[in-house]
Amino acid sequence: MTEPALRETRDAPLANTFGIDARARRLIDVGDVDALPAALADAGRDALLLGSGSNLLIVAPDVDAAVHVSDARIEMIEASGDAVRVRAAAGAAWHDFVMHALAQGWFGLENLALIPGTVGAAPIQNIGAYGVEVMDRIEAVQVHDRATGETRWWPHDACGFSYRDSVFKTDPQRYAVMRVDFRLSRTPHIHLGYAGIGEELQSMRIAEPTPRDVADAVIALRRRKLPDPAVIGNAGSFFKNPVVDMATADALLAVHPGMPVFRAGDASQRKLSAAWLIDQAGWKGHRDGDAGVSPGHALVLVNHGHASGAQLLALARRIAASVHQRFGIDIEPEPRLIGARW
Ligand SMILES: Cc1cc2nc3c(=O)[nH]c(=O)nc-3n(C[C@H](O)[C@H](O)[C@H](O)COP(=O)(O)OP(=O)(O)OC[C@H]3O[C@@H](n4cnc5c(N)ncnc54)[C@H](O)[C@@H]3O)c2cc1C
Repeated sequence: MTEPALRETRDAPLANTFGIDARARRLIDVGDVDALPAALADAGRDALLLGSGSNLLIVAPDVDAAVHVSDARIEMIEASGDAVRVRAAAGAAWHDFVMHALAQGWFGLENLALIPGTVGAAPIQNIGAYGVEVMDRIEAVQVHDRATGETRWWPHDACGFSYRDSVFKTDPQRYAVMRVDFRLSRTPHIHLGYAGIGEELQSMRIAEPTPRDVADAVIALRRRKLPDPAVIGNAGSFFKNPVVDMATADALLAVHPGMPVFRAGDASQRKLSAAWLIDQAGWKGHRDGDAGVSPGHALVLVNHGHASGAQLLALARRIAASVHQRFGIDIEPEPRLIGARW
């Protein structure tokens, strides 16, 4: 029996990893991603397209309509020499896709293991971790434009990918990702140039790691370092690392010699560590009622129980204001705010 293309539930809870109590008057589940344009048209212009809710802060908890894709089909559509082109539908769970690719011998995603979310949301903020960004592996994205009604494949270069950003993120109500094509490799290219992975592999006593070993090391590191949303509500890093010009970074370094500074995509710019700035401003472990900052990771806002989106947002604003006051640097949220503006 095949799954129905569309299934509607009334007054449905909205899944989100912050654990905020939110509901949609209509929730439409799309079992066949080719029915997504029809579902979005039916749900209306303001309908929220929801993945697994791991990069959202829901501030207005009553949403009129939401659409969710559950189509999780994955297929290899082309193999040529070392390269494979793999197509995944928007509803596939990201980590399951990474592990499926590894099991098939399609390499290149191992550093991105255990990132929560869906394949459809992965290009939106160009997910990244442990020295790899998903844009490095994306060949093309099938996009439905809710403004024009057109559906077409966007080649990599049209997607405007940059650090935690893309064309799609700048206009989130407009673009719906239906499928993503990845270019992966049948030969392992091990990528260990990021703090922590090499040490983790050493402690696992692995001298010549396979891609599966790299994924296992990343999984172990992530489990140790990041609070688990199943235990305490959070959306991973709440703030993006600010990117500044070199003169600003140098001026700050003169006053704070211990400040971490990283290279940014553009050679004339530098990326600062939002976690360091927030920690220095004294916020790590802070708590305002149930809204707090993780004691283990200054970048992660947590819901200790029944914090509302508005309470978490108020805390985020106080943190950003204090970082600005102390360092003159503006930090911005990484998750999308639903029902509020930064
Ligand atoms: C514990 C934890 C750790 C994390 N670690 C990382 C990390 O290491 N690196 C990283 O980059 N991110 C990380 N994140 C953030 C998150 O995992 C990613 O942003 C993920 O891609 C969000 O996927 P989602 O399906 O949950 O999207 P959602 O939260 O449901 O949606 C996020 C945005 O994408 C839009 N969207 C969802 N699906 C589609 C679609 N098919 N088409 C168009 N728009 C869509 C939504 O409308 C919304 O604007 C972490 C989050 C958590 C909770």
